[in-house]
Amino acid sequence: MKQLRLKAGREKSLLRHHPWIFSGAIAAGPDAAAGETVGICNSKGEVLAVGAWSPQSQIRARVWAFDPDSVIDQGFFRQRIEQALQLRRDLLSDPDGGCRLVNAESDGLPGLIVDRYAGYLVCQFLATGTEYWRDTIVDMLQSLLPCRGIYERSDADSRNREGLESRCGTLAGEDVPEYITIHEAGLYYKVDIRHGHKTGFYLDQRDNRIQLAPLCNEAEVLNAFSYTGGFGLRALQGGARRVVNIDSSEQALKILDDNVALNGLDAGRVDNLHEDVFNCLRRLDRDDRHFDVIVLDPPKFVDSKAGLMRASRGYKDINRLAFKLLRPGGYLLTFSCSGLLAPELFQKIVADAALDAGCTGVILRHYSQAADHPVRLSFPEGAYLKGLLVRKTD
Ligand code: SAH
Repeated sequence: MKQLRLKAGREKSLLRHHPWIFSGAIAAGPDAAAGETVGICNSKGEVLAVGAWSPQSQIRARVWAFDPDSVIDQGFFRQRIEQALQLRRDLLSDPDGGCRLVNAESDGLPGLIVDRYAGYLVCQFLATGTEYWRDTIVDMLQSLLPCRGIYERSDADSRNREGLESRCGTLAGEDVPEYITIHEAGLYYKVDIRHGHKTGFYLDQRDNRIQLAPLCNEAEVLNAFSYTGGFGLRALQGGARRVVNIDSSEQALKILDDNVALNGLDAGRVDNLHEDVFNCLRRLDRDDRHFDVIVLDPPKFVDSKAGLMRASRGYKDINRLAFKLLRPGGYLLTFSCSGLLAPELFQKIVADAALDAGCTGVILRHYSQAADHPVRLSFPEGAYLKGLLVRKTD
């Protein structure tokens, strides 16, 4: 096995089992192919871990295993995938459910995402290591979790940073149909695996969506950044009098309409606004509209530390407007999926937004990503989704 050698003193994060080796920590890189398994040595030449080499990325290696004697082969992938399936046994018991099966670094498989939508699996190979072992991983998934088909959605931006091109298409079994219907705690959602966001659906918000329903009885609900109606349908299920959904994607709103019909919910109580949320909230404020419950679930606003200030202003803006639109006693469910925005800073932004809106509120609940998106203790970067349930008190 070829080896990379770290600079003196740069093995500290590795000893704490963090899986990323940055380019600046490396004294001498191996003459290895992209994705090839290499030994990772301290400056004395002692092997501390084995990982995948990624010559073009700032993350120059991702650790497969912290035992220097580990062999990375079919058996390794079998064991890691079996472990991941074991962790999700409850969710997997619903054959029509949607669930994240493999959550990359946090499941000990850096750069690999596998989501299940009823009978189909969707994979994202986001780093050179998983790309290198792609066929092995697909074979293993097929043997461990019989499914109708496996589809690849390796079109996330992070692939560019690894020097990999986007790729989508069928990997095994049947081609995926245009839409797949999944079941989520009493509701059905149509998912477009080929063109939808991420791998088709925001599985990470499952538990938070479920918690919305009890807040919505007889409520007027505003669901900003609605996508295909994840939260909006829950509000209707909870007895909302009216649900206003806002999204800039016409296709997402079309699927939202289908989802309302699919669940036999009352379309007469639903308004879909195909608009930019920032503009729309301002307009609703000018029109003196008010709501009992508001959900803000924006896309990731921050991609780099440099963009944090600008993103913070964006979060503050929408939260300030939401507080203005909220009736006293109303509930705001506000989220951020930007991993670079720390939960404490997010909470401060929401507090400042309330102050600017001239109101106060209390935090009743902190939200995070669902348990099928676990966070490895040694990989805090895995915690990206945070949210607050705030009750406006006056
Ligand atoms: N809450 C959803 C997921 C929201 S994802 C669920 O549970 O399924 C974020 C959504 O915001 C996407 O549908 C995207 O189309 C939309 N979006 C992004 N920027 C927007 C903007 N400026 N105005 C309106 N919608 C926007």
